[in-house]
Amino acid sequence: MGTLGNDMAVALFGGTFNPVHLGHLRIATELAEILPVSKIKMMPSGYPPHRGDDLAAAEHRLGMLKVAIGDNNPLLIADDIELQRASPSYSIDTLSILRADLGPDTSLILCLGMDAFININTWHEWHKLLDLCHIAVCSRPGYSVPSSGPLYNWIERNTCNKPSTLDKSPAGKIFFCELTMLPISSTSIREKVAQGKSIQFMTPDNVLNYIKQNRLYE
Ligand code: ATP
Repeated sequence: MGTLGNDMAVALFGGTFNPVHLGHLRIATELAEILPVSKIKMMPSGYPPHRGDDLAAAEHRLGMLKVAIGDNNPLLIADDIELQRASPSYSIDTLSILRADLGPDTSLILCLGMDAFININTWHEWHKLLDLCHIAVCSRPGYSVPSSGPLYNWIERNTCNKPSTLDKSPAGKIFFCELTMLPISSTSIREKVAQGKSIQFMTPDNVLNYIKQNRLYE
């Protein structure tokens, strides 16, 4: 994990995955099918700059992701690149490392939900992101593409309509896609666990068992 070395486009789906749930796994699977990539790398963030103290330890979030994906998943893989650093996981730093690893010509695609995308202008050095990668944005109920404000012109200038475009250059495009959004969030899972309620059918059973065994979110 964490090493890249071929010319196939690389897609990253980052998140806190606190814990991973069926909503994440479903869109990651659909992304792997529509983007010009062979796999999606699901990448838990190590020490996200904006999170409070309900965050499970990085090794648990990675552990849950690994059991959720399983050993032989043809489309998804867990990637621990952000967990290898002790400093805050700014996306721009992770992308710079990956870009250096991949070389200048390989397409790199950062996949985000719309909720994350509409705040992208608060990210460290956000205006440099498209120098390093493309961005694929998945719709999410309750969030829409900004139609004014600081992101509007940036989106207008860089949007492309076809996923195949993302394979034609290494970086620089934004692609919006409508995927299956299950109405599940990690927050709702944490709240249910804390209240002693069932989380069955929100996350795979082996994640549910992992949470129980490690007494997370109680
Ligand atoms: P929390 O409730 O703790 O904020 P979350 O459920 O939003 O967490 P994250 O790990 O923050 O999960 O999300 C990682 C990425 O997955 C984000 O880009 C987010 O938009 C997307 N995502 C999260 N839940 C869903 C869902 N149900 N359907 C589609 N995308 C999702």
